[in-house]
Amino acid sequence: MAAQETVEHKYVYDFAEGNKDLKDLLGGKGANLAEMTNLGLPVPPGFTITTEACKAYLASGEQPAGLAEQIAAHLAALETGMGRRLGDPDDPLLVSVRSGAKFSMPGMMETVLNVGLNDRSVVGLAAQANGNQRFAWDSYRRLIQMFGKTVCEVPGEEFEHAIDEAKRAKGSTDDLDLDADDLRALVDTYKKIFSKHTGREFPQDPREQLDLAIRAVFESWNAERAVIYRRQERIPADLGTAVNVVAMVFGNLGPDSGTGVAFTRDPASGAQGIYGDYLANAQGEDVVAGIRNTVPLQELERIDKPAYDELLDYMARLERHYKDLCDIEFTIERGKLWMLQTRVGKRTAAAAFVIAGQLVDEGLIDLDEALHRVNGAQLAQLMFPRFQLDHGFEAVATGIGASPGAAVGKVVFTSARAVELAGQGEDVILVRRETNPDDLNGMIASRGILTSRGGKTSHAAVVARGMGKTCVSGADALDIDVPKRRFTVAGQTVTEGDVVSIDGTTGKVYLGEVPATPSEVVQYFEGELDPAAIDDALVKAVHRIMSHADARRRLAVRTNADTGADAARARRFGAEGIGLCRTEHMFLGDRRELVERLILARDAKERDESLAALLPLQRADFVEIFRAMDGQPVTVRLIDPPLHEFLPPLEQLAVDVAVAQERGEDVAKEEALLAAVRRMHEENPMLGLRGVRLGLVIPGLFAMQVRAITEAAVECTRQGVRACPEIMVPLVGAVQELETVRAEAEKIIAEVVGGSDVEVLIGTMIEVPRAALTAGQIAEAAEFFSFGTNDLTQMGWGFSRDDVEGAFFWRYLELGIFGISPFESIDADGIGRLVRIAAEEGRAARPGLKLGVCGEHGGDPDSVHFFHSVGLDYVSCSPFRVPVARLEAGRAAVVTAGSDSR
Ligand code: ADP
Ligand code: MG
Ligand code: MG
Repeated sequence: MAAQETVEHKYVYDFAEGNKDLKDLLGGKGANLAEMTNLGLPVPPGFTITTEACKAYLASGEQPAGLAEQIAAHLAALETGMGRRLGDPDDPLLVSVRSGAKFSMPGMMETVLNVGLNDRSVVGLAAQANGNQRFAWDSYRRLIQMFGKTVCEVPGEEFEHAIDEAKRAKGSTDDLDLDADDLRALVDTYKKIFSKHTGREFPQDPREQLDLAIRAVFESWNAERAVIYRRQERIPADLGTAVNVVAMVFGNLGPDSGTGVAFTRDPASGAQGIYGDYLANAQGEDVVAGIRNTVPLQELERIDKPAYDELLDYMARLERHYKDLCDIEFTIERGKLWMLQTRVGKRTAAAAFVIAGQLVDEGLIDLDEALHRVNGAQLAQLMFPRFQLDHGFEAVATGIGASPGAAVGKVVFTSARAVELAGQGEDVILVRRETNPDDLNGMIASRGILTSRGGKTSHAAVVARGMGKTCVSGADALDIDVPKRRFTVAGQTVTEGDVVSIDGTTGKVYLGEVPATPSEVVQYFEGELDPAAIDDALVKAVHRIMSHADARRRLAVRTNADTGADAARARRFGAEGIGLCRTEHMFLGDRRELVERLILARDAKERDESLAALLPLQRADFVEIFRAMDGQPVTVRLIDPPLHEFLPPLEQLAVDVAVAQERGEDVAKEEALLAAVRRMHEENPMLGLRGVRLGLVIPGLFAMQVRAITEAAVECTRQGVRACPEIMVPLVGAVQELETVRAEAEKIIAEVVGGSDVEVLIGTMIEVPRAALTAGQIAEAAEFFSFGTNDLTQMGWGFSRDDVEGAFFWRYLELGIFGISPFESIDADGIGRLVRIAAEEGRAARPGLKLGVCGEHGGDPDSVHFFHSVGLDYVSCSPFRVPVARLEAGRAAVVTAGSDSR
């Protein structure tokens, strides 16, 4: 608000004064009501009280100066326009009071309809409605019910119980069978419920009803559920909500009236067409509340053709205007159509891609905008296997889709049982009220996790996402009895061993085995589906948008792959090189014995022998990878983990040796091994003898690897494969470490390469905070940096990832200390700052220094945007995340800073 201070702050806007871009001030609902009004659509008149007024009220606990007068003035104008007065006993104006924040938020006060009715005006309302008593008393009982529940916190079940009783007394389940007398009696019952819980009579003064409702909307901003929801969705806590006061129109005036919802396209598949539901002779939320059976919107054509045609016309206009799928609420009052709400509609991941593609075809948006409208999280969802579309199973419960995927398995109730059954080759679903760190092993052993409590940041949800496991949390319809190993839901009992299916995207829970299908998007990436040849709107849309992302992005995308097979797959998924090839697995399996000999070597001769035996094996590994990546860079990380990881565990070995000694067997070899394991034992192995430190302590180890890499490259080149190795030294903290390794490596490379046309780069990981802070020095000895953001996060925060995620991250998320785990999305302020410093100082010291990232953050949407902004050359991630990173790198290049895609 840049304009000069007026005498009084403007807190109330007539619908004609607003527009859709004023969501911050008017909330989403108010801004869109204003937009429709100005488009000339039939919106009942009304006004919006701003979020500013809400914030002022919440800060002081009182309505800000001037607000009451402004409301009175707008109300008076509304009364004049409608030719009715609020509370007029003969011809009352009724209004709805509707909350509406910038982002739609469950947990806030919703809506009170029919404000302005009291014992006297209910009579006038009936008279004005041609003596329709039933309608008037139905409206009044709705007011008491909604007002009681949302404004005065009267338990809603009591009202529901009372109306059910009334229906039962009539021998019916349909509220339409209640006549005027029944409803008049129900109003009396409702009033008693109201005064029992509030200690006062239902307020008869309409202006008091209005003011109390407005205050309740303001206060609902800080209701517990709203606060929790904001934290989860990372919605700022200081936005406040607007309040809309809207003249009532009535869908409950008889069979020629009704209420409905409509979508301009199918929000599930994205298909074009008319989707929605209609309910005759009903008001407000009846249509979604499942009170009576709705009819498909198409039926309206038969019921009221003129209203239907008019609605279709508005839907088309709204879609052209918003250039997107719109979601609409409307009411028909005696044949007259009224538009009550519109917004850009929520949609599934598949629909997001399909609709974006369609809108490009229709010329409504360009490809940049299409790219902006989808995101990596949606793409990742589409890459999980999912349940078949028409599987015909009814969900027995719906919880929160906490970690995507489709999981089927036998129900178990304890971690121990999960481990046991999984050990027998069974697929299990771990069912708990909520999980805690003791459940970790059971969670690892399960296909999926199902809890009856907790939201997106519960322990179960956080840990499952970290593991990439399917999880449905907070399915509160489940009544779980752990000692009896069973749960009941929807009147059925499920005992241990019964099969359930859970959908971690929709949160739905099914009894029995729901058939799953592989993702067609993955099949497309694998090259098994040709988008030009098949009739699949989703694959075509994904293909088109991905191609555009590739054309736009500046970041290259590489993959983390340790084998030729992984590398080949990642390449099919669009990887442009390997950003991290770990070499440790090359020391496992049947090579363990060689490694043991290396570790136990008593002298240089024994050590050199085992290194010499490892050399050809390593060389063969690298040849396979260079072949798969022909022509693309391959960053090979020299061995990183502490050596004891390659030896048997201490306790086990100690027991074995003791037992063997008892039996009098010859245990000289085992004793030597045990001694070595003891010698190498570390309290904090993550901070101990690993990475470059190991390379500097064990002579010949790094040298053997450098030789294997270079020989493999030379061999490939001879066979016509172009190998582009980049040797990466892990855990460097000081330039001197790197210089020492480099001096030795350069000698070997020069010797092996000889006259052949092979170039080998030497660089380092930046994963120790000191390396980031001395990047200018380190760049003198490095041709590239690769940010190892997992270790950088661990060491920067002083967290041990394996310990903290299960132990207390849930609490940190709950308290809002993190919006998201720093292992999921890079902590831009702290760890990200280290990355920025290192990138800037590294490039200052060596222009052209190649910069990449190889932590798991490389495949995380928000982190990709961050790395784009820092100016890295590439991100590297697991093969499956490569398409996500491509998409987000493209989005980072087209999305202007500050635009919000929520
Ligand atoms: P929500 O945000 O939960 O959708 P709304 O404010 O849209 O809440 O209102 C709930 C229901 O009441 C919707 O079906 C809406 O269309 C209806 N409604 C709201 N205001 C009016 C009104 N002035 N006249 C008739 N129906 C209304
Ligand atoms: Mg609602
Ligand atoms: Mg609504």
